[in-house]
Amino acid sequence: MPLNTLENSSPLAILNKIFGYDNFLNGQEDIIDHLVAGDDALVLLPTGGGKSLCYQIPALVRPGVGIVISPLIALMQDQVDALKQLGVRAEFLNSTLNFQQAQKIERELVQGELDILYVAPERLLTPRFQELLQESELALFAIDEAHCVSQWGHDFRPEYIQLTILHEQFPHIPRVALTATADETTQKEIRIKLGLLEARQFAFSFDRPNIRYRVVVKNNPKSQLLDFIRWEHSDEAGIVYCLSRKKVEETAIWLTENGFEALPYHAGLDASVRQANQQRFIKEEGIIVVATVAFGMGIDKPDVRFVAHIDLPKSIEGYYQETGRAGRDGLRADAWMTYSLADVVLLRKFLESSEASEQHKLVERRKLDALLGFCETVSCRRQVMLGYFGEELSEPCGNCDTCLDVVDTWDGTVVAQKALSCVYRTGQIFGASYLINVLRGLDHTRIIRNGHDELSTFGIGEELSANEWKSVFRQLIAADMLNIDIAGYGGFRLTEKSRPVLKGEKQVLFRRDPVTRKLRKPKKQAEVSENPDIQRIWQRLRELRRDIAGEQNQAPYMIFHDKTLLQMAEVKPQTLEELSAISGVGDKKLERYGERFLSELKSA
Ligand code: ADP
Ligand code: ZN
Repeated sequence: MPLNTLENSSPLAILNKIFGYDNFLNGQEDIIDHLVAGDDALVLLPTGGGKSLCYQIPALVRPGVGIVISPLIALMQDQVDALKQLGVRAEFLNSTLNFQQAQKIERELVQGELDILYVAPERLLTPRFQELLQESELALFAIDEAHCVSQWGHDFRPEYIQLTILHEQFPHIPRVALTATADETTQKEIRIKLGLLEARQFAFSFDRPNIRYRVVVKNNPKSQLLDFIRWEHSDEAGIVYCLSRKKVEETAIWLTENGFEALPYHAGLDASVRQANQQRFIKEEGIIVVATVAFGMGIDKPDVRFVAHIDLPKSIEGYYQETGRAGRDGLRADAWMTYSLADVVLLRKFLESSEASEQHKLVERRKLDALLGFCETVSCRRQVMLGYFGEELSEPCGNCDTCLDVVDTWDGTVVAQKALSCVYRTGQIFGASYLINVLRGLDHTRIIRNGHDELSTFGIGEELSANEWKSVFRQLIAADMLNIDIAGYGGFRLTEKSRPVLKGEKQVLFRRDPVTRKLRKPKKQAEVSENPDIQRIWQRLRELRRDIAGEQNQAPYMIFHDKTLLQMAEVKPQTLEELSAISGVGDKKLERYGERFLSELKSA
């Protein structure tokens, strides 16, 4: 069907013909119907939930052009490229265009030759653009990444606050705000600041069932990371998050030396380097980006197969958002994190020594406690995480480390008493290594000089190894039974919560750190199927896709997603009609690439 006759087609027909999908995902249809009817909406869907279609389809169904406000230039380009592949008349307006290019698009806008226009908020707010809008026929306004309106979030965009102008200037054009931010305060802020108090809210589970969460205790982080990638994700795209720029650089070099394509990304790099590294990550396959949190927002890449944290994130929100960049396409993905006693100490120190107000610290302290609780839990990680967002998962998920490998607990009451009393008797000024040496009865000069070999706690802890003691101290700090002296030398101190333990009034349960063991056999290539035949065909289809992507200077996923190729390899369609039944093969892509994929399938 030619695109200019799309208006008044049903949303389902557009989903089938243009996007090549058979069914709506959870919630999409209701949202689309609501917008098509001309009403406002606030959409809360997790990453990978299919937000884009929620405004793209109404923009095609309703007469006029859909205006999409997006804060991220790279993302606009991506979305527009993807829509053009589908034959939709989409463009964007932002600072990357020169005057002539922008003028041409503005003309098309006013003349009704566009279906969807992406625009940066600062451009939208200019008087000139407001005038152009007055002259154009408008289908709707979509405000993407709506949490950017929140002053408290790290993605704050001041221009977003002025977007209320849309409501004032165009009261009859439906508006939809979309975000993947799960926390409730931000959701309220969006409603108030964007003038969406009356908008209907569409909220869905924030669960990402295809992501497998794992937390391992750090012993040698670099080689643990290397093993993880080598054994489970060789040749696959992923992101490794670190806290500091220095660590980003070091880790990227380390991975490169070990044969991976790893690129650094942090705010200290030149903008052109950052841009180039991001582009390679998007356009090539199997690239790893090692980054600080500066990286990730606005990356729409559907086939990121893992997100690894070698430093602790600051909160569960942060962790959820960062790991959420894995597996947008719904295929299996891993969220993997290492952490140690030193990380816990460091984060606690950061927090206590910050200049923030007491009120602010209180909030931060709660967030950190929740994160540490997530790390130390012996029950399902997904239940803990979703519970934090106020969502209840009735059964353990079966797809996290604690579900897959039940974690042992042990009664650590006596051990905790030994540790706490050692802290007390040595004067509450020492950190873990010193305390562990005293407990294990090592006659180091420093210990002898301090007379600590005379203490009753000297040598009472020989039953545990140094690593086991570390685990004990980590859990005592995580549970707030010890805190850290910031004013002094960072030694451990007793807290309110230590007293009942020392008095024998409270039982303490510790988590037994699981022994790390190799999981599966090393993978030479990204395996999607157990069936070697399907695996082989899939690889051939991927090569063809890479060729086509190269010809067009596009990312491979712009041609077809992995999920679509996998289905082709499984179903092996032999005719164009059979091919068109594959999910993700719409009319335009069938016309453009159908023959080439068919002949590849026939000869495979
Ligand atoms: P979000 O913006 O919410 O993260 P996207 O809009 O990028 O999600 O969609 C996530 C993935 O799901 C994309 O790969 C998209 O093509 C796919 N998708 C969206 N809607 C459908 C559908 N109805 N059927 C199949 N796949 C879909
Ligand atoms: Zn679980």
